[in-house]
Amino acid sequence: MTTRIDLNRLAPEPGRLSRRLDELAAFHDPEHPGWSREVFSEPYRASRAWVRAQMTEAGLETVVDPAGNIIGRLPGKDPSAPALVTGSHTDTVRQGGRFDGIVGVLGGIEVAQRLRETGTRLERDLLVVDFLGEEANEFGISCIGSRSIAGILAPEHLERTDGTGTRLGDAMERFGLAPQAALSSGWRTKDVHAYVELHVEQGPLLERSGHGIGVVSAIAGIDRLLVHFAGQTGHSGTTPMEDRHDALVSAAAAVLTVERAGCGAPVHGVATLGSIDSSPRSMGVITDQARLWAEIRSIDGNWLRATQKQIVGEIAAEAQQRGVDVDFEWLTDQDPVPTHELVQDVIAEAAGGLGLGWKAVPSGAGHDAAHLARLGPMGMVFVPSAGGRSHCPEELTEVADIARGAHVLAATLVGLDGREQPASIQ
Ligand SMILES: [Zn+2]
Repeated sequence: MTTRIDLNRLAPEPGRLSRRLDELAAFHDPEHPGWSREVFSEPYRASRAWVRAQMTEAGLETVVDPAGNIIGRLPGKDPSAPALVTGSHTDTVRQGGRFDGIVGVLGGIEVAQRLRETGTRLERDLLVVDFLGEEANEFGISCIGSRSIAGILAPEHLERTDGTGTRLGDAMERFGLAPQAALSSGWRTKDVHAYVELHVEQGPLLERSGHGIGVVSAIAGIDRLLVHFAGQTGHSGTTPMEDRHDALVSAAAAVLTVERAGCGAPVHGVATLGSIDSSPRSMGVITDQARLWAEIRSIDGNWLRATQKQIVGEIAAEAQQRGVDVDFEWLTDQDPVPTHELVQDVIAEAAGGLGLGWKAVPSGAGHDAAHLARLGPMGMVFVPSAGGRSHCPEELTEVADIARGAHVLAATLVGLDGREQPASIQ
């Protein structure tokens, strides 16, 4: 039985983790500073073969599915039982870092390798997945691979185009994938016992509190907003101030309205301005058209709904005073996704059993885990990010911290292996 497994023997080899981090970082686009391995790029293509080879070296049986997910399988005693699943992504944003996503894939491979090297057989299969294209891209769709596995990659996604007019479906085909098959290659809930993802925090909470391990409470929901302001153009020299309907000034006021909405928000509410554009963009002419993009995020759906109303009310009232018309378009990119209590408990027990302090933290960033939550109980283990920096070349998590996180991941998977799946999956 899994209860007799000596968890200390599953401690990762930091030297091997470090070597793999360095080797994977070598696959990057030298045209950009930092580490760029964007989805569908040549460095990403080259790195896929390397990832698969590392899984094979670790003793995993590998397949690549129609959406390009690399799936490594460590067989358990009962291959018919729902599998334990871990993983993350190895693509980066442009000018990104060496740890976001990567830590979860290489950590998962290391856990599987330690299980095999110590002759530790789990009851069920362990799957380590490198999900294709998690980061936001020019097609406006993140988490391509995990959406496919969750069964929510839709035909309309394949029709989206990038800056050059290329369809996502065509980009996938060019990358050697099978986009049509990816629409129907989702897993079933009975395939998954639980999903646990190791990830860098990408924020400052763990480092500030001095905790090496974060037990993620929820993944933030994201609401995006486009506001269109329509005023009246006119001569900048002859139009008296009180007669103006300046769309750009209304947009400028809206910038501060959005920022205020995020300040002082409870449980990790944040509000961010994306950009503003305006026309006619001419000195000597009053602006009559402006558009503003913004987003709000929180793990609290009630806060998101209330904040939407507050932002709309304040921007509309301010614009009305200037005689500027406003039009709002909201797009929910993702609803908040709570992690499963069972997985939270097992992660906390695993950390405690290894003598490691932990802290419950929210995730302000989106993750593949948010989609995997459709298939079974989901949880995430965070490790500290130096200075809270991420999505930049300065992104840093010490190998010792990654090794601790991977050890907790191993103990969590062992713990979940011996648990019954709860009757209700949220
Ligand atoms: Zn990530």
